[in-house]
Amino acid sequence: RIVCPNMLADVVRLQAARFPDRAALHFEGETRTFAELDAESNRAAQAFVALGLKPGDRIGWLARNLGIFWPAFFGAMKAGMVMTPLNWRLAPPEVAAILQDSGARLLVGERAFLAALETVEGYSPPRVLGLEEEEGGFQSVLDAQSPDEPDYRAREEDVIVQLYTSGTTGLPKGVLLTNRNYHAVGAAGLERGVFVPQTDDEAMLHALPHFHVAGVNVGVLAMGRAMPVVQHRQFDPAAIVREAQGGRPLDAFFVPAMILMILEAAKAAGARLDAFRTVGYGAAPMPEPLLDAALKAFANARFWQFYGMTETCGGASLLDPEDHAPGLARRVSAGRPLPGCEIKVVDPETRRPAPAGAMGEIVLRADFVMAGYWNRPDATAEMMRDGWCATGDAGRFDEDGYLYVLDRIKDMIISGGENIYPAEIENLLSAHPAVLEAAVIGQPDEKWGETVKAIIVRRPGATLTEEDVIAFLKPKLARFKLPKTVTFAEALPRNPSGKILKTVLRRM
Ligand code: AMP
Ligand code: MG
Repeated sequence: RIVCPNMLADVVRLQAARFPDRAALHFEGETRTFAELDAESNRAAQAFVALGLKPGDRIGWLARNLGIFWPAFFGAMKAGMVMTPLNWRLAPPEVAAILQDSGARLLVGERAFLAALETVEGYSPPRVLGLEEEEGGFQSVLDAQSPDEPDYRAREEDVIVQLYTSGTTGLPKGVLLTNRNYHAVGAAGLERGVFVPQTDDEAMLHALPHFHVAGVNVGVLAMGRAMPVVQHRQFDPAAIVREAQGGRPLDAFFVPAMILMILEAAKAAGARLDAFRTVGYGAAPMPEPLLDAALKAFANARFWQFYGMTETCGGASLLDPEDHAPGLARRVSAGRPLPGCEIKVVDPETRRPAPAGAMGEIVLRADFVMAGYWNRPDATAEMMRDGWCATGDAGRFDEDGYLYVLDRIKDMIISGGENIYPAEIENLLSAHPAVLEAAVIGQPDEKWGETVKAIIVRRPGATLTEEDVIAFLKPKLARFKLPKTVTFAEALPRNPSGKILKTVLRRM
């Protein structure tokens, strides 16, 4: 029942041929079989062609997790177009900047998000289709098409999804992930037995955003295993606890902050989480006490930890269920490299291998490393040095080949599984007339892992309060990036060459 084809769209074609009547997708009371998903994705492909899109064109997608995403995603692939799912939690100017960078020729989305974009000064969107409209919306365009295969022949190097990350400069960058990347990461995971269902009725609970690599991967992974996706519109811990009482065995992937909230919701409801058979987790460091609590609460589940990044199609290393046993030191490691993935720990300056067991920057080489950043040869070259992808994470290997991710070299905060680049916030703050200089750091947080803290030096004579700062940032920045704490200082600690010393700030 498991397929891992060279061309990702073949997942749907193959499963539709073998299991036409099996459920592929459940979403809020509607079910699509594999045959229906296949036909609907053909209709979506025909719709994109009818709208004048050509292979290689980008399609912006601005919506919460709706069922229609999957036929649209496979439809784009089948016609050679590139789906670009956007983070709807971003502020409208941030979304506009990404759409502009992507050059999207079509934007499909939920009406409220599309309307918010109209407020962005100086921005005019491409052709827009709403997801709610009865007439003239995306669904009606799709319904008017034939369910025949489009006339397009996929290639391994076709980009199938473009996912955005910010960077240390604070500018959005589109990560290009290809058929080859998806085949490589899929095959590597399979070799390690990840998410291989134990029974026929196991389903994949999906509550991760479609605009993150894990959200895309978990869906295609389930379909490749002929497992239905139980699609949640957005993450709601109480809804997940309810889902677990439905009597059907479940698999899922969560970030640590989600796990914490699910445990709290289960406790509040006096409900058990026995339904879960496999729990994948990753995207942020997992505190050991939370891991212990999770292992206890998800009593029937096998746990896998994933370490990876968007730029590596989510792949790098895996911690297997057996390595989670109490008392093992390696249960807090990120496991062993995936098959076909070479991982080295190097000196971040010289790029030479660090001595055995010593800490350094984690770099890797694998067929699942992205084709590059969209239109950014400079940033791509910086990321890919001598063919090795620099993760910006610091870690070390133990004698048994287990990788420990210990720190971040790149200036990045992870709050509730969402990456936040301080440079983005610092750039905005330094444009404020009362700000002389500003630094943004992460502060440890029990619930979110980290939250944002801003340290500001006011211009002489200027008045500026915490409320002023938040009011200034709010329209420009997603809520999850807003500083939770703002403090004011006389000066910022700097090294002799003028660089702000964030490690010193963090210690203060
Ligand atoms: P993203 O591009 O959002 O996938 O972010 C990738 C980054 O998330 C990595 O470079 C790490 O800093 C962090 N990360 C991902 N997985 C893990 C993990 N299992 N443990 C610790 N940090 C992780
Ligand atoms: Mg992440």
